[in-house]
Amino acid sequence: MAKKFIIGNWKMNLNVHESSLFVTKLAQEVPTFRDVTTVICPSFLALQPLSMQISHRQMKLGAQDCYWRDSGAFTGEISATQLRGLAQYILVGHSERRHVFGEDDRDIRFKVQAALRNGLSPVLCIGETSVERDNGDIEHTIDDQLVSGLLNIDSDQIDEVLVAYEPVWAIGTGETPSVKDIEQVVKIIRTQVAHMFGRDAGKKIRILYGGSVNLDNAGVFLGIKGIDGLLIGGMSLIAPEFAGIVKIAGELAKIEAKEEKND
Ligand code: PEP
Repeated sequence: MAKKFIIGNWKMNLNVHESSLFVTKLAQEVPTFRDVTTVICPSFLALQPLSMQISHRQMKLGAQDCYWRDSGAFTGEISATQLRGLAQYILVGHSERRHVFGEDDRDIRFKVQAALRNGLSPVLCIGETSVERDNGDIEHTIDDQLVSGLLNIDSDQIDEVLVAYEPVWAIGTGETPSVKDIEQVVKIIRTQVAHMFGRDAGKKIRILYGGSVNLDNAGVFLGIKGIDGLLIGGMSLIAPEFAGIVKIAGELAKIEAKEEKND
């Protein structure tokens, strides 16, 4: 059965106390649907208190990053091993990690592997810059980031991976790609995953869209064939927007479940 994923990335916003207050608000507003997985990604600091505060039926927790070694002399880093029991998902290769902190494909690949090794689901973020788009390099960029990020994963691990297509130029800008452009990228991702892990994996891989999603446009993106959910930045910090988007996902999931039953 189709499942929708709505993931909120709080980035470097809200201290521990503010995070707790905000989750109290979300708990009142975010609806629970059988076929929607709602994930919030607060700062590392808030993971522990929020893991005790949230209803895990209503929301899951994700980390915004991790280091790829499990332990050792890596001052300031947090490993996927340390996140076990606190988070179920880890964002890997978010555009800000790639472009602000200079993470390369090798770092990102190792982080995907670290998440899987520790029983967590990596959300591999990929997407082209505006220059790559203007140069007609979208397919090449997506293929490269995908192949590199998923290299050396076993085919029995691919089910745990989510891929988030986030064009860099759409993040936090109010600009979004057309439905046709997203459909094309979905096709590129599914074809490449099928090539690497088999036809079934290509069909089943969960693909999210991210970049300037809000309550007004969420239904359009969620309605795109092959899109299984959304990764949301700014609007995940506004309770009614985020809750409204979860509601749209839930209604769509219900319609899809009915259609599947009638097939
Ligand atoms: C993001 O940071 O992943 C993101 C999609 O941000 P926004 O929704 O604000 O564009």
